[in-house]
Amino acid sequence: MPVSESYEIVVVGGGVAGCFAAATAADQGASVVQLERKSAAEAGHIACGDAMKAPTDPKKYPGPIDMSALAADEDVLIDGNIDQIEWWDEDIDVKKVLPYEGHSNVVDRYEFGQRLLEQTAACGVDQHFDTVVNGVLQGAQVEGVRAVRDGEPVEYSADLVIDAGGSLSSVMSDVDFASLDADPETSFEKPHFQQFGSAYREVLETQEPVPYENALVGKPLERMGYIWYFPRTATEINVGLGFQMNKEPVELVDRLKKDIQGRPEFDGAGFDTVNGKANKLGAALALRRPLDSMVAPGYITVGCNAGTTHPISGKGIRGAAVTGYSAGKHGAEAIRDDDDGFISEADLWAHNHYVYVEHGLGTRVAIKDPYNIAASHVGMENVRALVALLPEDAIADVVSSEGNSLGVRNAMSLASGVVQNALALVSDGRFDRLDTTKRDVGRTLLDFVRAQRYATKYERVYNDYPATRDDFFEWRDARDALDDGFNDALGIPAGQRKY
Ligand SMILES: Cc1cc2nc3c(=O)[nH]c(=O)nc-3n(C[C@H](O)[C@H](O)[C@H](O)COP(=O)(O)OP(=O)(O)OC[C@H]3O[C@@H](n4cnc5c(N)ncnc54)[C@H](O)[C@@H]3O)c2cc1C
Repeated sequence: MPVSESYEIVVVGGGVAGCFAAATAADQGASVVQLERKSAAEAGHIACGDAMKAPTDPKKYPGPIDMSALAADEDVLIDGNIDQIEWWDEDIDVKKVLPYEGHSNVVDRYEFGQRLLEQTAACGVDQHFDTVVNGVLQGAQVEGVRAVRDGEPVEYSADLVIDAGGSLSSVMSDVDFASLDADPETSFEKPHFQQFGSAYREVLETQEPVPYENALVGKPLERMGYIWYFPRTATEINVGLGFQMNKEPVELVDRLKKDIQGRPEFDGAGFDTVNGKANKLGAALALRRPLDSMVAPGYITVGCNAGTTHPISGKGIRGAAVTGYSAGKHGAEAIRDDDDGFISEADLWAHNHYVYVEHGLGTRVAIKDPYNIAASHVGMENVRALVALLPEDAIADVVSSEGNSLGVRNAMSLASGVVQNALALVSDGRFDRLDTTKRDVGRTLLDFVRAQRYATKYERVYNDYPATRDDFFEWRDARDALDDGFNDALGIPAGQRKY
């Protein structure tokens, strides 16, 4: 017989989303257990480029986790030294430099993860490490999880399960959503793996300071994706790469090795270590818009699994924090206000509404997704040409995590910037090094403008995300109609569409 334990809220996962969810729910007075499959010493060691922005801004990182304390912790290495993004397309001699304001940082992700877990425990959360969740308990609602803790079976019953298990969470796969009590059907949107990316990174220690210690550097990968060098200090560089899983797979470890082998700054570089082992990890990450609805009866999913990662840059720490906070807060409130012993989707709806409207991060991520769709449609060679042609501020709008300012861009200034860059690229023969044609690049530019236009339209629809579940299905129909219009405009046939 498995051991039985009972809590108001079970949080699966000890990453950013799990810590923000568990800490917030406990801070609201709920009894909370956080389950993490890794050991206490390994927990918080997460595959990540480790770049994050403005950690001390409470709007960006809401809730009881004290990010200022983390920012002041020198082991976490948040030194705010990054002030620009650089795009290097070396084969065609293109370098774009984008200003990056607001205290951007590359952190020691392991130390950051460990400190988050400590703060979560201090909020009154029970933490069970070495605990692998391998099933769910469910009736009319999700009622808890099955797990193996230190090799022994345990059943955790709960009013609410917050699934912070990361991309394509196994907990989500175990839920039978169709059999939960939701009328006419669950609003929960199950994501597809092709909407995710696969990524890998190492932290290398160089012998000499790199010349780009103040920059997040990105370079094109032949599949839909990029290679990065993110310096957390002048001699500790997070190097990695990732591609979207709707394309042919890339052998990530070999491809990264090939890239850095030719670079003098990595000559003789060794690995940073965590718990005595080389610091290298890979994982999946969402490259899609946030889920239409992140709730089901007795269940909320958050973080990377909920699709709150930027669909172009892949940055997801802030999305994990915001959705975790929201799930903890609104989940605890739903349990406190419950009078029928059933935590319905309507009871949890405030979570969806907070993410999309009150906080707005969900909307800001969703309006970047048209650029991802257009990029996947035109292919990487055309994306490289597009980046070469666009003025830097237009590129900055696409990769930023803020709202959509392209709608108000002066079309004439965009056009004149593109023409100047095109003349330079063609006149010195660099254009011929790309595997594309001028006609395809012309079409790509048009698709970019279409993505801009639709980003503005999506923004209006997502700003209007329904405050109650009753209005959700009508809202989704209106959004789906916009999807049809966008896909038709790009010429993407049914069956090849992202959603
Ligand atoms: C290579 C790479 C580079 C990235 N670079 C950046 C970057 O530079 N900046 C940025 O902001 N974002 C970046 N991201 C995205 C960011 O890392 C994620 O969005 C973020 O970590 C998501 O946090 P999370 O808490 O949702 O999930 P995770 O960080 O994946 O945490 C999930 C946790 O749940 C645990 N878990 C999973 N399943 C179970 C189970 N069945 N039982 C018990 N425990 C379980 C895992 O062990 C893990 O600790 C990157 C992602 C990748 C893969």
